[in-house]
Amino acid sequence: MSVLIAGGGIAGLTLALMLHEAGIKTRIFEKSRASGELGVGINVLPHAVAELDRLGLTVRLDEIGVRTRQLIYKTATGHDILMQPRGLWAGLAHPQYSIHRGRLHRMLLDCVRERLGPDHVVTDRALVDFRKTGDAVCAQFVSHDGARSEATGDILIGADGIHSRVRAHYHPDEGHPRWSGVVMWRGATWVPRFGGGDTMIVAGGMDYKLVLYPIAHDPARPDEALMNWVVNVKVAEDGTPPPSRNDWSRQATVQDVLEHARGNLAVTELNLEDLVRRTDGIYEYPMCDRDSLPCWSHGRVTLIGDAAHPMYPVGSNGASQAILDARCLTDRLTETSDVVAALAAYDATRRPVTAEIVHMNRNGGPERVIDFVQARAPNGFADVHDVASPEELRAIVGDYRAVSH
Ligand SMILES: Cc1cc2nc3c(=O)[nH]c(=O)nc-3n(C[C@H](O)[C@H](O)[C@H](O)COP(=O)(O)OP(=O)(O)OC[C@H]3O[C@@H](n4cnc5c(N)ncnc54)[C@H](O)[C@@H]3O)c2cc1C
Repeated sequence: MSVLIAGGGIAGLTLALMLHEAGIKTRIFEKSRASGELGVGINVLPHAVAELDRLGLTVRLDEIGVRTRQLIYKTATGHDILMQPRGLWAGLAHPQYSIHRGRLHRMLLDCVRERLGPDHVVTDRALVDFRKTGDAVCAQFVSHDGARSEATGDILIGADGIHSRVRAHYHPDEGHPRWSGVVMWRGATWVPRFGGGDTMIVAGGMDYKLVLYPIAHDPARPDEALMNWVVNVKVAEDGTPPPSRNDWSRQATVQDVLEHARGNLAVTELNLEDLVRRTDGIYEYPMCDRDSLPCWSHGRVTLIGDAAHPMYPVGSNGASQAILDARCLTDRLTETSDVVAALAAYDATRRPVTAEIVHMNRNGGPERVIDFVQARAPNGFADVHDVASPEELRAIVGDYRAVSH
């Protein structure tokens, strides 16, 4: 069996590693010409780390990421709501990693090249179309200079992200992604450690939110951590067409962020204005997702990762769900020689679960706990338990975890 994967992001690379381990011939075709370390922070949750561990990647994850010990939910102005132990500290078998997305991507790419061979990731190949030919799929690509090429395999996997060409082939009228009206500004810079250097903070709800988590340590800087920060501000109504700048690499300025953050967001752990001013390279991104699809698999073609279920980045689940897709798809393909049945079984397993997560994330995911408390006590509180019981708070984050695992 041979598999063509369109898109060499976290979904496509992880799938290639799993298929290779299962003895299935795989080639990745990636639109970009070179792979820079793009993006800022990302979290990989324990259920996805378990799958990377099965691929023998834990040592490498420890080299590039931080094992997250706890997550503290706060109001936008810094009052504690709930502390949640994470990963090993929550008694789970695997840690949660907070990590630079570019370094995670580079690590997976290096592994694919080492294990599958350097020719199995072909860059500068944007999938433009495909057609079924008997028991095979023929994919067509274009390079930046306009050169056209083709490749044929038994199946084609669309791992080509939120603007997926494979998805658009089956849903040509879907249009642009759905925008929540929230703009996210993101960056990372070295700051003095707080909370042991492995604490994540989510402060604020759907309208104003600050997210902080360390993504790297350096033995030469023992008192500091590379701090990933995200400032989310709702600037438009839910469902407004997204700004055209719908990519991860649009640069923003310090003023763009401070104009919206100053006075609305504050935590005691660090000075937000100082953090933003010290950051080299701030990125702006509209928070988008898409409605869930009635079907991912069409015969010998299916979708995975953001191509299948782009979701708001609340609950830290985008990359983790992509990794779980890869495991499920690999398992189904190894169970039967009927690839059409395998792709249908993958669809039946993963589509309902991820649709539920997309839906929950639209309502705030686990971070809904903050909106819940702020709605009950809009003027603040002395002790959160005067406002909500520990059981109520834990139920909100626990319900989300139960669905997304
Ligand atoms: C450049 C970039 C930076 C990101 N930064 C962050 C971040 O800082 N924090 C965060 O939480 N999430 C980030 N994300 C999103 C996050 O990586 C994904 O939500 C998650 O990992 C799921 O990955 P994916 O592989 O399904 O999709 P993606 O990560 O979007 O990967 C899709 C891949 O397909 C390629 N591609 C697209 N169209 C085609 C085509 N027609 N033919 C061939 N290849 C194609 C893209 O170049 C990309 O490499 C980023 C994504 C990208 C692409």
